[in-house]
Amino acid sequence: MSAPLIDPFARAITYLRVSVTDRCDFRCVYCMSEDMTFLPKRDLLTLEELDRLCSTFIRLGVEKLRITGGEPLVRRGIMTFFNSMSRHLESGALKELTLTTNGSQLEKYADALYAAGVRRVNISLDTIDEAKFKEITRWGRLPQVLRGIDAAQKAGLKVKINAVALKGFNEPELPAITEWCASRDMDLTWIEVMPMGDIGNEDRITQFWSLKDVRAEYEKHYTVTDLPERTGGPARYVRLEETGQKIGFITPLSHNFCESCNRVRVTCTGEIYTCLGQEGKADLRAPLRANEEGNGGLEAAIRAAIGDKPRGHDFDYSRENVAGKMSRHMSHTGG
Ligand code: SAM
Ligand code: SF4
Repeated sequence: MSAPLIDPFARAITYLRVSVTDRCDFRCVYCMSEDMTFLPKRDLLTLEELDRLCSTFIRLGVEKLRITGGEPLVRRGIMTFFNSMSRHLESGALKELTLTTNGSQLEKYADALYAAGVRRVNISLDTIDEAKFKEITRWGRLPQVLRGIDAAQKAGLKVKINAVALKGFNEPELPAITEWCASRDMDLTWIEVMPMGDIGNEDRITQFWSLKDVRAEYEKHYTVTDLPERTGGPARYVRLEETGQKIGFITPLSHNFCESCNRVRVTCTGEIYTCLGQEGKADLRAPLRANEEGNGGLEAAIRAAIGDKPRGHDFDYSRENVAGKMSRHMSHTGG
């Protein structure tokens, strides 16, 4: 049995988020520019390499695996990977296999995901207005996503909706989105927009809608009770007494959550980022490719990266300029 992954600040790393592709069938305005250039296929980890990588992390104590992207379900053959990961659920080493998706392909894959052992999915949806959905995703179509959500729930998957809080955009829809989620028994989490990557003409500071203000908006409509629940990540939760719903707030910019951080991220090219808000990264693809038989070099590279995990991040919107801005896109590290 290998020693578990513990970083220099005594945080055990039990949660891995892996981006399996940088491609996407949408072009959300806060995430991508319309004319994104994607990576050449040879740079991506193959499905076999993704399997070796994730299996190594699981052997080193990772208990929760979240698959993301880009849009994970547009990666060709992705169900082969999910089906293969289910062996770790069966052995008990992996407690949860899950994904974050835009929902566009769920009609096709929901049953297969359930069969592979996935029980919960996070679906990103910023608006339930068809015209606004088209505006924010550029290429997305709301009815397709709604059919995906129906299929997920029908398959038995528990659905959580993630919405990016965008000032002047989904602000007026807050009660409608909330009631819609409640009526479908879906939890809802709001995410503050983060300064990730060059996305063209959009101005992030005007997009930014502080979750303090989102919470204040809830307090106008509902009785809001703080919940003690922590996930080791940036989310804080409240309950709306009128609907019984749990609402999450992911506030990487206005709250410090780093002290309990239990996670690392790996990109589709095999770079490990031990902090979402820092540029520091290490390459796991070279050690993966150096030895196709054994995983000793890979394990050493993972341990070295975790040994360098920073204490925290430096995002700051406070002075009308975006300090600590990250040059990479969210679709690169997977959000
Ligand atoms: N395509 C999938 C999806 O949209 O759910 C998975 C990848 S996407 C990059 C993961 C999450 O990151 C989504 O919920 C998306 O809204 C969020 N996201 C993307 N760019 C962001 C940004 N600049 N700030 C905050 N959240 C962002
Ligand atoms: Fe695609 Fe997700 Fe980025 Fe939207 S947020 S462009 S769905 S990767």
